[in-house]
Amino acid sequence: MSSGGFLPLQGMSDIAPPEVGLWQRVESEARRVLPLYGFEEIRTPVLERTSVFTRAIGEGTDVVQKEMYTFEDRGGRQVSLRPEGTAGVIRALCGLGPEFAEARVFYIGPMFRAERPQAGRKRQFHQIGVEALGGPSPAADAECIAMQMHLVEAWGLSGASLRLHTRGVTTDQAAVREGLVNAVRPHLDALCEDCRRRHEQHPLRILDCKNPGCRAVVDTLPQAMSFMAPESRAYLDEVVRRLATLGVAAQVDPRLIRGLDYYEHTIWEITHPALGAQDALAGGGRYRIELDGRAVEGVGFAIGIERVIMALQGTGVKIEDYRGRPDLWLVAVGERAAGENLALAQQLRRKGVAVGLDTSGRSVKAQMRIANRRGAPWVVVRGDDELAAGRCQLKDMAVGAEQSVTVDELTARFVKA
Ligand code: AMP
Repeated sequence: MSSGGFLPLQGMSDIAPPEVGLWQRVESEARRVLPLYGFEEIRTPVLERTSVFTRAIGEGTDVVQKEMYTFEDRGGRQVSLRPEGTAGVIRALCGLGPEFAEARVFYIGPMFRAERPQAGRKRQFHQIGVEALGGPSPAADAECIAMQMHLVEAWGLSGASLRLHTRGVTTDQAAVREGLVNAVRPHLDALCEDCRRRHEQHPLRILDCKNPGCRAVVDTLPQAMSFMAPESRAYLDEVVRRLATLGVAAQVDPRLIRGLDYYEHTIWEITHPALGAQDALAGGGRYRIELDGRAVEGVGFAIGIERVIMALQGTGVKIEDYRGRPDLWLVAVGERAAGENLALAQQLRRKGVAVGLDTSGRSVKAQMRIANRRGAPWVVVRGDDELAAGRCQLKDMAVGAEQSVTVDELTARFVKA
């Protein structure tokens, strides 16, 4: 088999040591911070009925039209791998009943989108997301954003910036669409092919097109917000005011759009300068989702873990520092000591000490080399003489100093109270 046979599918990655150590830190920090705000974990399936996504995210969105992994299962049902977390979580919360009507939940897990892979864009990627159910409330939106910034800071990612905007309510969205379609019409010739095609259906998408010709047109357009009702603009102002009282700096960005249909009122994005072209670290927004005739409102966000890892590396975090290391390595001189070391390792491990040892009868020199390679700070050497005396040689690998200790002394030293 060529080495290609060992690679995962294009756009998907194995997350192996030592990198996985940094992932664990990122995830455990989320598990620490989010409950401070009353959020509890929820785990939903990665595979759902396709309709869960088409109804919630919107039939016409890129995610649904071009990016979902959809197939027929063995029972002839249309199913999809989740491209995002919100739709499945809302489905689950609806099914759990009325006591979940104001649920605050978070999720951590893989998402799947059949996008063209490039740096920072994968086909399987991972998100940490939250959903807080409840009707429109600028305070709830500000709290959610502040929690997200708290988490980003807890990871040690300084320099992230927050941009936000509003989608308004349903009636605003119709007015914005109509207003933009009319405002863009005289400039159609100056737009790129994509924007010309989506002009009638998705005029908002023109706002974040990177093409210089389209950008020039966008600069001349009235702001989307100008087509909205005063209440919608007041809602956004209130979110910004609340954020200021929480010490969160936010920039209102009229060009900000989000690719999913379910948003209403506040939408936002967090970017980080260490990310390069795909600089979105996270996105979020308030939404209204209709599933099986039931409308659910809430606010939530999703942070891409791959992007968090990239940003951390870009700001000087070294993956190597996250390699798991043993507290202690046991080296055996002879067969009897090898047997006794295995028993001692088991005793110490049961007491919470991370112990490494060779189980394949290697030479003392080879055992020492492995201990060194695995970064063991201390090595214990025992042979027949030490066993007879109930002692062992304890070597400090940083300075090379050795001392003779009893097994009880060794245990007392390494077992944390
Ligand atoms: P979205 O809801 O599409 O804005 O996604 C939220 C966050 O997930 C983004 O800000 C990224 O950090 C991350 N993300 C989205 N799509 C991908 C992808 N294809 N590969 C890696 N990360 C992604």
